[in-house]
Amino acid sequence: MDIGIPREIKNHEYRVGMTPGGVKELVRDGHHVMVQKGAGNGIGLLDEDYAAAGAELVDDARDIFARAQMIIKVKEPQPAEYQQLTPGQVLFTYLHLAPDFAQTQGLLASGCTAIAYETVTDEQGGLPLLAPMSEVAGRMAIQAGAHCLEKAQGGRGVLLGGVPGVSPARVLILGGGVVGINAARMAMGLGADVTLVDSSLARLKELDAMYGPGLKTLYSTVANIETELARSELVIGAVLIPGAAAPKLVTREMLQLMPKGSVLVDVAIDQGGCFETSHITTHQDPTFEVDGIVHYCVANMPGAVAYTSTFALTNATLPFIKAVANLGWQQAMQQDAHLAQGLNVHQGQVICPAVAKAHNLPH
Ligand code: NAD
Repeated sequence: MDIGIPREIKNHEYRVGMTPGGVKELVRDGHHVMVQKGAGNGIGLLDEDYAAAGAELVDDARDIFARAQMIIKVKEPQPAEYQQLTPGQVLFTYLHLAPDFAQTQGLLASGCTAIAYETVTDEQGGLPLLAPMSEVAGRMAIQAGAHCLEKAQGGRGVLLGGVPGVSPARVLILGGGVVGINAARMAMGLGADVTLVDSSLARLKELDAMYGPGLKTLYSTVANIETELARSELVIGAVLIPGAAAPKLVTREMLQLMPKGSVLVDVAIDQGGCFETSHITTHQDPTFEVDGIVHYCVANMPGAVAYTSTFALTNATLPFIKAVANLGWQQAMQQDAHLAQGLNVHQGQVICPAVAKAHNLPH
C-alpha cells in the first residue's frame, strides 16, 4: 500500500503521525511510505532518519495527498487538507468530529474513508489510542502543577516533596482512570502526600491493591472533596464520564476552603472541566487566577512534549495501521470489531452513531 505522512500544519503542532521506527515496520511489510520533508524536524526526527527507515521523502504535502492510499496524521485535517482527500482514500488520525461540523462536512464531501483514533476500542472497554495521550497528560499534570506552586508563578511557594523536617505538599487527584493514576504515580514519586478520589469503588479497590498505603483513596462525595480541598495545595481534575460534559466537582464557593496560592490543574478541561471556575488556556498563556487560586487548564497538554507523545502514539497506533495496510481496511475491520469502531465516515456517509447524532445526520 502507498502510505503518506504529511507534516502537521495545525498551529504549534510538532508531533508527527509516525516515528522512523514505525515507518521501518511498514516498509518491512512491503509498503511504500512517503514522509513530507521536515515532518519531524520540530522534535529532532530528521529526514535522514526517515530515509534510513526506507521512506520516500516528499517536498510537498499535495504530492502525498495525490499519491497515498492511506494518510496517517496526528491532528484532525485542516480545511487545506480535507479538500485534498479523495474518494477511496483512507485517513487515519484523531478526528473529534462531534463538535466540528465543518470538518465533518469536508470529510463527507471528499468521499474518503476516515478512521478516528479516538473511537477505536479494546477488550476492556477502554480507548487504546486515546490512552497514550492521557498517560502523557496525567504525568505532565504534576510537572505543571509543581511549577505553578512556585512563588514566581503565583503559587504558594511550596515544594511538592518537602525536605527533611518540612512536610511534603498534599496532592488531591479527582478521578482514578488513566490520567489520574499517571498523575498519582508522578506525585508519589516526588514524595508528595497523595489522595485519590473516584466514584467507582471497584476502581478504588484496584488502586489500593496496586499501591497500598502510599496512595490514600476516598470515595467521591461532596463531603470528602470539601475536607480534602481544605488540606490540599495541588488538585488535579481527571474525571471522565464518557460522552458527557465533566461533572463540576469543585464549585467557586469551594475555592474558599483552599489555602491561597494553591493550584488546580484541570486536565478534564477538554470535556468542559471539572472545576466551575475553569476555562481553556494555551501553552503560551497557561494559567489564570480566581479568588487567589491558580488555574492551569491547557486543553492539549501532550502537544508540549511532542517528542514523547509522538513515540507513545506510534506505539499504540502501529498495530492498527499495520492491520489496515496489510489487509485493507474492510478485511481488517471484519477481523477486529474494535478497529471497526474507529470508522467514522465512508463514501459521503457518517458511520459513527455518536457523530451522526451530534450533527443530526443519517447513518
Ligand atoms: P478515564 O475514563 O480513564 O478515567 C476517568 C475516571 O473518572 C474513572 O475512573 C471514573 O470512575 C472517574 N469518575 C467519573 N466520575 C467521577 C466523579 N464524579 N468523581 C470521581 N471520579 C469520577 O479517563 P482519562 O483517560 O483518565 O481522562 C480523563 C480526562 O482527561 C478526560 O476528560 C480526557 O479527555 C482528559 N484528557 C485531557 C488532556 C489534556 O491535554 N487536557 C489529555 C488527555 C486526556
